[in-house]
Amino acid sequence: MFAMMETTRLESLHFAQDPQTGLKAIIAIHNSRLGPALGGCRYISYPDEQSAIEDALRLAKGMSYKAALAGVAQGGGKAVIMRPAHVDNRGALFEAFGRFIETLNGHYITAMDSGTSSADMDCIAQHTQHVTSTTAEGDPSPHTAMGVFAGIRATAMARLGSDNLEGLRVAIQGLGNVGYALAEQLHAAGAELLVSDLDEGRVQLAMEQLGAHPVAREALLETPCDILVPCGLGGVLNSQSVLQLRCAAVAGAANNQLASSDVADTLQARGILYAPDYVINAGGLIYVALRHRGESLVAITSHLTQISRRLTEIYAHAQADKRPPSRVADDLAERLLYGP
Ligand code: NAD
Repeated sequence: MFAMMETTRLESLHFAQDPQTGLKAIIAIHNSRLGPALGGCRYISYPDEQSAIEDALRLAKGMSYKAALAGVAQGGGKAVIMRPAHVDNRGALFEAFGRFIETLNGHYITAMDSGTSSADMDCIAQHTQHVTSTTAEGDPSPHTAMGVFAGIRATAMARLGSDNLEGLRVAIQGLGNVGYALAEQLHAAGAELLVSDLDEGRVQLAMEQLGAHPVAREALLETPCDILVPCGLGGVLNSQSVLQLRCAAVAGAANNQLASSDVADTLQARGILYAPDYVINAGGLIYVALRHRGESLVAITSHLTQISRRLTEIYAHAQADKRPPSRVADDLAERLLYGP
């Protein structure tokens, strides 16, 4: 366990269980140099405890990097609740989790993530104030979409020499909460949309409302386009799929798009500019962090501009050093997290 913590440079790991509600929860605090750790709470089933712990560690580390480059003065952390096969009272389970968070005295702030809802955050909020994305605070997805939109413009500027999206062919994988809101903005900016989703209803809606062209799911990655926008699951860019891409740039919301870090080198060698996912998709984090501190929507919208500025800075360094932008982003984040 300690070897794993050392490899990820994890600050601390916390466990709680509550037999009455069935709660089995892990909170990983990766780095709190820049502020209290903030990160979502996953509620999914895991094959065993080890995989739940590993997931918490990996995700907490990602949050440290994302928060550092988003300039939100927060650290990185993540919570994982091992979803039981059966739960009698979901509300009571999340209340027990709220009591667990409260014992950490504000060192960890939770938020919605895979498998949790704002109603679950409301249950947590009955026992601690260290919780965001409650029903009162609202869904961060539109802010993630806004940040990705600005990031796509910065990416177009760096790779194609103009941030005017009119007439650009943009292929979007996944029209969920973020993908659809983004598609609306891209359509308004005059981009031509090529879309796919597991849910045909979402595709149909985009065709009717945004004039989008449907693309078969298995064909989307190899569709000729200017910008590929992954907004579904992570790991879409692997050593095989990356060779099929026919785009100038990849810039989307999905977390952990690179299946492994060496995929970045292949993208670079193929002349495809890659927007590091945790930089371009930080809008939701910016929203929950600033909202939690009581900042206004105007202040939040203004902070979102940090995303395109940061990307532009990363692209400039990457070009000067002939390195993949994702490696430049990691170095920048590590300087903030561990530097002098
Ligand atoms: P969502 O679940 O609302 O939407 C995901 C959509 O992608 C679904 O409609 C799903 O059917 C579709 N999809 C999944 N796999 C697909 C595939 N292979 N081909 C085509 N479509 C596919 O999720 P979301 O909130 O929109 O988030 C999208 C991505 O962005 C996720 O990776 C998420 O982790 C990441 N992200 C989201 C936020 C946020 O604020 N919601 C913030 C940061 C990162």
